[in-house]
Amino acid sequence: MAFCPVCKNEYREGITICHDCKVPLVEDLNNGPAPVIYGEREQLEEILQFCKEKGLTTGFITYNEESDSIQLYFERNELEEATKVIRAFFMKKEIDRLAVMAGIDPKEMTPEMARELQLQERKEMEDMRRAERSRGIGTSYVDKRSKAAEYKSSSLVLSFVGGVGILFLILLYVGAIPALKGWRTNYMFMGVMFFLFLIFVITGFVTFTKVGEILEEAEKEEDFIRKVKNVMEIILTKDIIDQAVASADPAVTQSEEELYFKRVDYMETVLKEKYPDMDSDLFEKLLDERYCELYENSEDNDN
Ligand SMILES: [Zn+2]
Repeated sequence: MAFCPVCKNEYREGITICHDCKVPLVEDLNNGPAPVIYGEREQLEEILQFCKEKGLTTGFITYNEESDSIQLYFERNELEEATKVIRAFFMKKEIDRLAVMAGIDPKEMTPEMARELQLQERKEMEDMRRAERSRGIGTSYVDKRSKAAEYKSSSLVLSFVGGVGILFLILLYVGAIPALKGWRTNYMFMGVMFFLFLIFVITGFVTFTKVGEILEEAEKEEDFIRKVKNVMEIILTKDIIDQAVASADPAVTQSEEELYFKRVDYMETVLKEKYPDMDSDLFEKLLDERYCELYENSEDNDN
């Protein structure tokens, strides 16, 4: 009996190659070649080439129908070594990427420099986020309490300007401002100005009546935010997130940038699922704050 190590099909004696997978058959499936990594064909070709340069000889790429993926296989005796070499491949890739970024020769890059560059990249990304935040991009959220304060001050300004204006017109009308006596009988002017100042006062008053309402909303909102933050502390911890964004393949080293986008993506998905109706500006703000809490200014701790 002979089996295909990829599709596991059984073949009768005499046949040596799987018709579908084009790979040599084995006697015992438990001893046959095993997949080490899956991915795009082009990348796998590159990895296989790298493995060959490192002296590995049994690697081959094939499509696995069962998992609908292209995989790189190695014979059992080379499996362990292949895993190490592939890890080295991805480290080399990351170092090449960092070298291009820093404009130096990859050969001159030491592990310490690579680490330094990764940290620098992380810091730059954080600075960018911070700058975006302070420019108001992404988070244009204004909390209800500040909104109430804004309403209050603009209502005061409107009422004050309107009130002073009306007082001025009254003084003008009774002739208390001799220098502007001529305007006193300009009823058109007096009427228009009076009407204008009256609108100021009314608008100011209406705005003021809304302040209480907004303050009530503010309290409800603060309660809600407290609740969401508590929930986030449970469902969005560093452990959970890191687990979720870990590469499916342990041989893959991910760059800071990749990790950042994956983490934010995951956090967004989880939070959206839990609070689908949350105001989108508030959503962004809370997400942002949680990310900072977990990942920013923590370089010193993970050494
Ligand atoms: Zn097969």
